[in-house]
Amino acid sequence: MIEEWWNQISNDPRRCWWCKTRAFQKCFGCFIICSDKFIRKGLGRILLFFVYGLVTFVLLMAFFVALPYESLWMPKPLMFILVIIAVYLFINILYHYSKACNTPAGRPPKKIEQDPNGPPIPICYRCQTPKDINTHHCSLCDECVVNMDHHCVWINRCVGAGNHRYFLQFTGFLALACFLYCTISFTTFYYNYWHL
Ligand SMILES: [Zn+2]
Ligand SMILES: [Zn+2]
Repeated sequence: MIEEWWNQISNDPRRCWWCKTRAFQKCFGCFIICSDKFIRKGLGRILLFFVYGLVTFVLLMAFFVALPYESLWMPKPLMFILVIIAVYLFINILYHYSKACNTPAGRPPKKIEQDPNGPPIPICYRCQTPKDINTHHCSLCDECVVNMDHHCVWINRCVGAGNHRYFLQFTGFLALACFLYCTISFTTFYYNYWHL
């Protein structure tokens, strides 16, 4: 039933010139598909550069403003350890971010062994692949994703079985770096801005 409806719509010669999936007369549906495409091809790519730019900006601020300023009063061995930790964290943030962006989220296998006594495995009507438990079809990526967590606009793809690990490591290292940055600069902040 749904398949028939979908074929009818996608074969319509009056379909949208951009998304090529829905007919013009279904303008609200067409608007959703076009905005999906905008998020994936436009906004998502802009946000990728934004994140790289932001991380690089914080890196430059840490190495050329915060750490030199703190080194005026901090003991040298402590500064040396802090610089090593900062380099380690920033390399890990950039590495895991690029891995999370470039690793496929994980598509389900084309065929799954059907248990004769178990319930039938549902099929995704868009991908025509078995849709096992925890597999979800992402309308933005237009593909099924195993163990789908969410579609992340900051990495411009889904977070699923394939890149879950990299995504968590990226957020973990990012949180650690923020914590370290705040801890190091707290004394300066306290005496110069808060304690006036
Ligand atoms: Zn699907
Ligand atoms: Zn997605």
